[in-house]
Amino acid sequence: MSPRTSPVVVVGAGLGGLAAAVHLAAAGREVTVVEALDEPGGCCGTARVGAYRFDTGPSVLTMPGVLAEVFGAAGEELRRWLPLRRLEPSYRLVFDDGSRLDVLPEREAMAEQVRTVCGPAEAARYERYRRLLDELFRIEWPTFIDADMTRLRGLARPAALLRLAALGGFRRLDRLAARHLTDPRLIKAHTFQALYVGLSPRHALGIYAVIAHMDTVGGVFFPERGGMHAIPAAMAALLEKLGAGIRYGVRASKVETDGGGVTGVLLADGGRLPATQVVVACDRLAARRLLPARADDWRLRRPRHSPSCLVMHAGLDRPPADQAHHTLHFGRAWRETFTALAAGRPQPDPSLLVTCPEPDGEAAPDGHATLSVLEPAPNLRRAADWDRLRPEMEARLLGRLATLGYGDLAGAPRMVVDPPAWAARGHSAGTPFALDHRFTQTAWLRPSAVTRRVPGLHFAGMYTAPGVGVPPVLISGRLAAERILKEAR
Ligand SMILES: Cc1cc2nc3c(=O)[nH]c(=O)nc-3n(C[C@H](O)[C@H](O)[C@H](O)COP(=O)(O)OP(=O)(O)OC[C@H]3O[C@@H](n4cnc5c(N)ncnc54)[C@H](O)[C@@H]3O)c2cc1C
Repeated sequence: MSPRTSPVVVVGAGLGGLAAAVHLAAAGREVTVVEALDEPGGCCGTARVGAYRFDTGPSVLTMPGVLAEVFGAAGEELRRWLPLRRLEPSYRLVFDDGSRLDVLPEREAMAEQVRTVCGPAEAARYERYRRLLDELFRIEWPTFIDADMTRLRGLARPAALLRLAALGGFRRLDRLAARHLTDPRLIKAHTFQALYVGLSPRHALGIYAVIAHMDTVGGVFFPERGGMHAIPAAMAALLEKLGAGIRYGVRASKVETDGGGVTGVLLADGGRLPATQVVVACDRLAARRLLPARADDWRLRRPRHSPSCLVMHAGLDRPPADQAHHTLHFGRAWRETFTALAAGRPQPDPSLLVTCPEPDGEAAPDGHATLSVLEPAPNLRRAADWDRLRPEMEARLLGRLATLGYGDLAGAPRMVVDPPAWAARGHSAGTPFALDHRFTQTAWLRPSAVTRRVPGLHFAGMYTAPGVGVPPVLISGRLAAERILKEAR
């Protein structure tokens, strides 16, 4: 069979797998996606509790252009499939002293916010820091984020590395921000995003300041209807239109190979899908069971996982007053948060991410609303005693939410997802945030997206570069598809 026409199998219909499949199908390849769950999305899932519908994963979309590119590959316009609205504010940050800062995407509006909350001198510093973020982003995007780290020519970018070093990209993130900003609240507003890559701002590299660029400068978006899960639902619908197959509710049990490389995928229901190329787009450690020993990657010898989270979803009988979509409540012990998580303990005074989407007429009965709270928590490698921890954390969380003004949610329809529940969904170490992004698990040092010893075997998703988050995994899917399409020439 010619590699140009031979079938491709994608294991996992998370956003990474779906993106790979769309790019391949749009290029005319025969594609089948195999998904263990009964619906697409993986982490970007959905759940119902009584009359309420919740997003179980991401609560906002950044860099919508990356998603638009996936639809564009198929000649489609994202806004026709999935109208998005920009959220204002992008975030509301509430500090332990009761003060708050709304993060607004427009430069002038944000500078005005900073002027009001932190004073005019800090506003001037903010404007300079924002210019630095712009420059870091401009350098990093083509060299480290939207770039294939499996190719040798991707390795040598001396000019970019030198410029990043000069800008402070290889210092620690907290030091980089503190060199430019002085108000601790503004520093937090630009460094808390280190949590998204599983690290404390004291340990994350300054290059990760670009995450603050993506959300504080680029803005955050949300589908007009259907919540975040509307994203994978639209991608799966696009795949159907392109003629690709998606097999839900069946697990891939083995990637078959012979001396020449990949030959097919065996399914847990006894079926077999022939393929000369496979994209494995699921938890990379769990996927070892599917793969021949020679597909092992030395970068996975000592995997360092991100912390996990405990998420509580609750149905509300009325929307909270004056509530932003996304509110970050900082606890008093912000620094200790990271030490505690690394030592396997809950945060001493939890910082919480509260999401309260504007009702879209479908997620809750008329006049009602939904609320989801994410509390960073230790992963299962760090803390094992979840029979004890879970009720303790849940009770403390309910108390904290009541203190913060969300009311008594003890009797509300609720659902809690803790690290053992993430593990039961297939996430190794009980964390849905994969490996953290320390230097030794970044860019070329993250597990490789190809294994040259098994021709035709590719990887996508958050375990590969560029890493965790919706835009990065969409990019990883496109990169896998591009490599496959090149192999076929
Ligand atoms: C609570 C939470 C909040 C988040 N918030 C944000 C946010 O606000 N913004 C943001 O950008 N990112 C956020 N993220 C991160 C982002 O959602 C993830 O990084 C991304 O969705 C991961 O996609 P993926 O395709 O790599 O993996 P996954 O979503 O894990 O998909 C892998 C898929 O493979 C399937 N699978 C596994 N094994 C097999 C098998 N053997 N056979 C068949 N199928 C298999 C799984 O069922 C799953 O559907 C959040 C994540 C979580 C959990």
